[in-house]
Amino acid sequence: MGIFSGLEALGLGKLKNTDVFVDEEQKKAEQEALKKKEAKKVTEEECIYDKTMKCPVCDEEFKTKVVKTGKAKRVGQDSDLRTRYQIVDPLKYDAVLCPHCGYAALSRFFNYMTSTQARMIKEQIGATFKGGVETDAPVYTYDEAIMRHKLALLSTVVKKAKASERAYVCLKLAWLTRGKIETLPEDTPDLERIREEARKDELEYIANAYEGFSTAFSKEDFPICGMDELTLTYLVSDLARQLGKYEDAKRFISRVLTSRSSNERIKGMARDLKDRITEEEKAAGLTEEA
Ligand SMILES: [Zn+2]
Repeated sequence: MGIFSGLEALGLGKLKNTDVFVDEEQKKAEQEALKKKEAKKVTEEECIYDKTMKCPVCDEEFKTKVVKTGKAKRVGQDSDLRTRYQIVDPLKYDAVLCPHCGYAALSRFFNYMTSTQARMIKEQIGATFKGGVETDAPVYTYDEAIMRHKLALLSTVVKKAKASERAYVCLKLAWLTRGKIETLPEDTPDLERIREEARKDELEYIANAYEGFSTAFSKEDFPICGMDELTLTYLVSDLARQLGKYEDAKRFISRVLTSRSSNERIKGMARDLKDRITEEEKAAGLTEEA
């Protein structure tokens, strides 16, 4: 029975279900606000545009997908410096691939090429590259992004790129694989097995990144892949931790903690990492508790 029941006799029966406290105007305003919010919801597709590039190997022009400036919303960071984003993961769009000859590289390295390197790519990749990697889909899936980065890794090997460039592509492959694991739909058939395999791939990429960056330390000048020495030292420590190489992880992180040029931000990160290394080492039963 409505609160106004009994008023039917007065000819007001239609109003008997009227709510005492809900204001029609307010209801309308709420609905409008909801509609606006729905309309404002940005999709990944809207964050992407096609950019024309020229391949330094075959001189052909092609289009590549690029994330619009300011569209990726940062929501956090993993211990190995992978930034997590909302709506669109810019990592997926970082490998540029020439669909004509198969040359690929991370965008920051794409145009740097000696004539000898171009020749090696032409001979070893271009000569047999069949293409067919581009789809009409407006966005890249993680699997597509991983494939593009694998081609970038292949190009770094063929053109005999610096250890750091190879390591950086491996690190990005690890991050992409992590992104894939995090976004696998719950109803994926064989979900556990796929997760398990992806996790193994991720660790293999981390192991290669660790090896490459460790080599880069002694052979290359800083900045390396845009990182200063302390940032890279921190990163290598975390990669060692992920691989269970706790002694190496501790050695690298103490360098960051004792360095005079460390700022408070990196010191804070380093202290957190050191605690994590200690905890994990304990959990793995590698240290004896006093
Ligand atoms: Zn090309």
